[in-house]
Amino acid sequence: MRKRLLMAILLLLGSLPVLAAEVSGFRVWADPVKTRAVLDLDRKTAYKIFTLKSPHRVVVDLEGSSIDIPIKLDKEHAGIITSVRYGQPEKNTLRVVFDLNESAELKSFLLDPTAQYSHRLVIDLFAKSSRQKSSMVKYVTDITKPDREVVIAVDAGHGGEDPGAIGRNKTREKDVVLRIARELRKAIDAEPGMKAVLTRDGDYYIPLRGRYEKARKARADLFVSIHADAFTKSSVRGSSVFVLSARGASSEFARLLADSENASDLVGGVTLNDKDDMLASVLLDLSQSATREASNKVAADILAAMKRAGKVHKPHVGRANFMVLKSPDVPSVLIETAFISNPGEEKRLTEKEFQQRMARTITRGIKDYFYSSPPPGTWIAANRDGLKYIVARGDTLGGIANRYSVSLSRLRTANNIRGDVIQVGRELVIPTS
Ligand SMILES: [Zn+2]
Repeated sequence: MRKRLLMAILLLLGSLPVLAAEVSGFRVWADPVKTRAVLDLDRKTAYKIFTLKSPHRVVVDLEGSSIDIPIKLDKEHAGIITSVRYGQPEKNTLRVVFDLNESAELKSFLLDPTAQYSHRLVIDLFAKSSRQKSSMVKYVTDITKPDREVVIAVDAGHGGEDPGAIGRNKTREKDVVLRIARELRKAIDAEPGMKAVLTRDGDYYIPLRGRYEKARKARADLFVSIHADAFTKSSVRGSSVFVLSARGASSEFARLLADSENASDLVGGVTLNDKDDMLASVLLDLSQSATREASNKVAADILAAMKRAGKVHKPHVGRANFMVLKSPDVPSVLIETAFISNPGEEKRLTEKEFQQRMARTITRGIKDYFYSSPPPGTWIAANRDGLKYIVARGDTLGGIANRYSVSLSRLRTANNIRGDVIQVGRELVIPTS
């Protein structure tokens, strides 16, 4: 009896028309290598996708689907897509056509819902011309050149599909961190012997592993990831500096933060292949003690510069399991510049003055690090003798001696100082061996 009832229900289900999926959103993003189109769907849907020539276009057929929004193309981010059309060539099939200005290779995948998004169909279009461009590995500086510049990879977190944290006034983390990253590049490039390279210089998403891979390809001496964090309590504020923890996170807060920063790839859109790579990267040997030691040192120098410049969230360097910091051979730090969840800091994050001050402060910390431990063969290693240091508020003679690895007595002798009193603004000579 029960069996027969079940059969009847199955038959009934079979005769029902497939519930239509609805396309409820559409976005495009263009990075230097590809153009990404994203369709929001209210449920998982079978689809067919193919390319056609003369003119070049991509056709997507979504089974049993309909559309309830006008599809508008954001020309600024459209990359090689010139227009989008849609129609219903057959009953129960929604066809979306992307017109392209050149031929492209195609990759597409479905993504499961995240906190921000419903189901998504992601279509990546790799233009032949840009693929050729990107296959050339570009070194920022020739590392065999005598007195080369130190290279700092500056990574603006999130981007494209992944907005990062969002403030009460709708400030998006991905936008403000890109502006700070660009200011940081400017400040670093203004320093002799230092050169910055951005992992992204636009509104598009790069997988977490791709970010440190870029730094490694550029032969960076340092990787700095820029973020703005969010917390449930809006009163929480201040900057923080993080390094990778080899064994779990140093605090519950750091763990929560790592979870949200690492979820980036699920939001930003990464294919299953990339996820496998990501898992592989988790298994990377984390015992590279030299890299870790250098990461700790540069993080401490940046935090010290931040303490002198303003309010920090925690007085010590945080440790968390950030995927983006897992480069085995490039010292890496992650900076949470401010809390976007704090209304005052959200406002400041959007201000050019704050962005520039933050960039200067971070540069100061990076500079302190490279001048105290310059990589051999760099301009800084050759030119740091007779290095000048301007005393900042909060500095102590012992602290400065420590930072540049010189003894207190040598520092005193070189500057004719007796005792420990130093004036803010005074220029000190740092003796080096
Ligand atoms: Zn972030």
